[in-house]
Amino acid sequence: MTANTTTTGEVLLDIADVGKHFTGAAGDDLRVLDGIDLQLRSGEIVALLGRSGSGKSTLLRIIAGLIAPSSGSVRYRGRELNGANPGAALVFQSFALMPWLSVQDNVELGLAARNVPPAERHRRALAAIDMIGLDGFESAYPKELSGGMRQRVGFARALVLEPDLLLMDEPFSALDVLTAENLRTELVNLWGTDDFPTKSICVVTHNIEEAVQLADRVLVLGSNPGRIIAEVAVPQTRPRDRRAPWFEALVD
Ligand code: ADP
Ligand code: MG
Repeated sequence: MTANTTTTGEVLLDIADVGKHFTGAAGDDLRVLDGIDLQLRSGEIVALLGRSGSGKSTLLRIIAGLIAPSSGSVRYRGRELNGANPGAALVFQSFALMPWLSVQDNVELGLAARNVPPAERHRRALAAIDMIGLDGFESAYPKELSGGMRQRVGFARALVLEPDLLLMDEPFSALDVLTAENLRTELVNLWGTDDFPTKSICVVTHNIEEAVQLADRVLVLGSNPGRIIAEVAVPQTRPRDRRAPWFEALVD
């Protein structure tokens, strides 16, 4: 296991002066994001901290290339984004699993969509499932799993794509506190190991402790319109394992 402490890697994502408007139900103009500047470098974990409605999910969707900004520029590895970000994968708050598919098929879905041949698909899915602690649950269905296990499937489904940027939208907020703490700690301990495919993480949260536990840098998003009102560096040593020995007995 190698500690990943560099924050001076290459710029993967470069967002300059991004704004986003929506048209409200009454035809009114909703200014959601304004003048957002943000760079994500290889080797860093950044948290976007903000109140509900401040535009965190909107910004994450813009980074993923799922929606376009109204103004400004979004570059991935120096190239202006046009459609889905080829280097990004998303983990959702509500897991967003396909209930009719097994764990393995859920994890393979994104690879199938990218025309990865079946044998490679299976191999990569099993490796991701193993890495995230779901070994033995390959043929289980989401309804048979606890919330924590379902979000593990969500992680495996993102990580199997070997994304440079792992984007997470309040990934722990649907879980009970112990399960969330356990998954967070596992994540920081996977970060920087050789089999962890991701170069940079951007995690959206409204939980200050979570931001400080995970991130090297916390960006605070103010509301109406969402703009970055503070940026805080958080010195981290990794890997860290804050679990007490009794902790294993409490979580699934
Ligand atoms: P957060 O994730 O910080 O809670 P969101 O990015 O989800 O905030 O939403 C920010 C604001 O933008 C909210 O007021 C929300 O209602 C509005 N909004 C988000 N998506 C749309 C959309 N597609 N159409 C209209 N308004 C939207
Ligand atoms: Mg949100």
